[in-house]
Amino acid sequence: MTFNALVVKKDEDSGKTSAAVAQISESDLPDGDVTVAVEYSTVNYKDGLCIGPGGGLVRKYPHVPGIDFAGTVETSSDERYKPGDKVVLTGWRVGEAHWGGYAQKARARADWLVPLPGGLDTRRAMAVGTAGFTAMLAIMALEDHGLKPGSAPVLVTGAAGGVGSVAIATLAQLGYEVAAVTGRPETGDYLKDLGASQIVAREDLTEVTRKPLEAEQWSGCIDAVAGAMLGRVLKQMHYGSSVAAIGLAGGAAIEGALITPFILRGVNLLGIDSVMQPYARRLEAWKRVAQDLPMEKLEAMVQPATLSDLPDLGRDILKGQVKGRIVVDVNA
Ligand code: NDP
Repeated sequence: MTFNALVVKKDEDSGKTSAAVAQISESDLPDGDVTVAVEYSTVNYKDGLCIGPGGGLVRKYPHVPGIDFAGTVETSSDERYKPGDKVVLTGWRVGEAHWGGYAQKARARADWLVPLPGGLDTRRAMAVGTAGFTAMLAIMALEDHGLKPGSAPVLVTGAAGGVGSVAIATLAQLGYEVAAVTGRPETGDYLKDLGASQIVAREDLTEVTRKPLEAEQWSGCIDAVAGAMLGRVLKQMHYGSSVAAIGLAGGAAIEGALITPFILRGVNLLGIDSVMQPYARRLEAWKRVAQDLPMEKLEAMVQPATLSDLPDLGRDILKGQVKGRIVVDVNA
């Protein structure tokens, strides 16, 4: 029995890669304890890299990308899962070093899966996906470091992107005041509908200044951008507050007078990695997603897609042109 998958191949002579929907069979799938009938996957920045030339993430071709998926267990040699269970997977280099969710079936290690919490179906789990799961990990890290509603605004950078959109909706639902930084002014209404009370233009935060500190403005920050923006934001953080750094859409270097926010304002820079989270933290984060994320706002950020849309969408997300979350129905 064959089924559909988005397969990325590499031409050994030219070194060029190409992605297209193809038929594969269960015997092609990698080793693992659990075979899942995939229902939905999503498009994240890393998927854009893996659909294209790989960016150093793909270990072996041919490759099936898709860094997250949700579906129903078909077979399991691990006693924690039985056929019919609904599961979700993010991280563990699935879709990079291991074949991922852009197929109607996937096989993975039981340790990498999480049972779907009550309140989420497989489609909603993927509307959240790796981006939303990371947004929740960032919120949990900020709360662990003392963030509470009722203080100055929480800044969210890369606001119209996947992580930013889910972060804004969840923070607003939890009672935080949210300021959203975007380079796309036309997304202002969308960001306000998600719950942002203030829109900050990207260019207001990307100029590198020589000032060691600026006026305190933000009680917390979820930063998807890094680069010059993170250098500026650190100088505007309230005394003792934290920045959860999740991504580097704006560049890997942090620029500016960097040490002052740490030694004169006790600012914390918290690195968030969604890939290697231990099981208990993953379970807690998914339960919080089911509990805290307003589902009607989640629906407003979703753009549906099929396997054959993925080559184009992979290019779009690398150009920063995707708004909200793309949910891939692998059976459509
Ligand atoms: P998206 O592409 O959906 O969003 C990124 C957003 O960043 C864009 O929508 C844009 O927002 C902004 N942006 C893009 N380019 C620039 C630029 N040059 N300068 C400033 N801002 C820019 O990606 P995701 O939200 O899915 O992921 C964001 C980042 O987080 C990526 O780097 C990704 O690899 C990383 N990531 C990390 C994870 C982890 O575990 N730490 C997990 C998931 C993602 P706007 O148009 O509003 O300005």
